[in-house]
Amino acid sequence: MAEKLLTVSHLVKNYGRQEVLHDINFTVEKGSVTVLLGPSGSGKSTTIRCLNGLEDFHSGEIQFKDQVIKPGFKKWQSVRQDIGMVFQSYDLFPNRTVIDNILLGPLKVQKRSKDEALAQARHLLKEVQLSDYENAYPRQLSGGQKQRIAIVRALALNPEFMLFDEVTASLDPEMVRGVLEVIEGLARQKMTMLVVTHEMNFAKQIADKVLFLENGKIVEESAGHEFFDHPKTQRAQEFLNSMD
Ligand code: ADP
Ligand code: MG
Repeated sequence: MAEKLLTVSHLVKNYGRQEVLHDINFTVEKGSVTVLLGPSGSGKSTTIRCLNGLEDFHSGEIQFKDQVIKPGFKKWQSVRQDIGMVFQSYDLFPNRTVIDNILLGPLKVQKRSKDEALAQARHLLKEVQLSDYENAYPRQLSGGQKQRIAIVRALALNPEFMLFDEVTASLDPEMVRGVLEVIEGLARQKMTMLVVTHEMNFAKQIADKVLFLENGKIVEESAGHEFFDHPKTQRAQEFLNSMD
């Protein structure tokens, strides 16, 4: 049995009086890629946001490594250092260079040495083919380049778990491939990831496990290839047809 990095048990989330996540249960194994699919409004982003404390939740629990997280949990700061998140809008600091954006967390939050953090940042920039942009400002980059920098910035904190929420959704089509390739590279390096995406070919390629969400419930959980080749539920079949 592979080691579990994350276990979500009976997670319930409300916005006001509306319950938007109902009894969510799943596990993420170390070194695996889990893809969260489902129609718009099904609760994918809310699930991801509960996993790094951007949203509190009503009941249930999240176990990440040996930390048990219950509603009202207060020690997110330490947990977040292990969980990197990248979402649709890359929120780079506009008045800082690429390298300063990347080094901010490692130096200010993690108090690492400048030499060591800089060496790692340069290594990561090389991996995403943006070494030449170290001293550029975000406005000088394309959307795809900014998103690759946002990924590097998250990786520079050495997280054990990465969350990706529709990171290519706001990119021009010609920018999408380069960003997906970075994530594929991380999958090959056995980074543990939870990925929300509308790119079905990409999802099929990287998913070890698929969770299919509808109306705040996981209605299907399958091995990646199984979900795409033989979805178990009619809803998943319809969803896949609609994505063609
Ligand atoms: P998805 O990411 O799958 O599109 P979301 O997690 O964003 O879905 O949304 C799930 C449900 O929660 C939707 O009904 C949405 O309208 C609602 N919701 C999301 N964010 C908020 C919020 N901040 N306040 C109230 N309702 C919200
Ligand atoms: Mg969303």
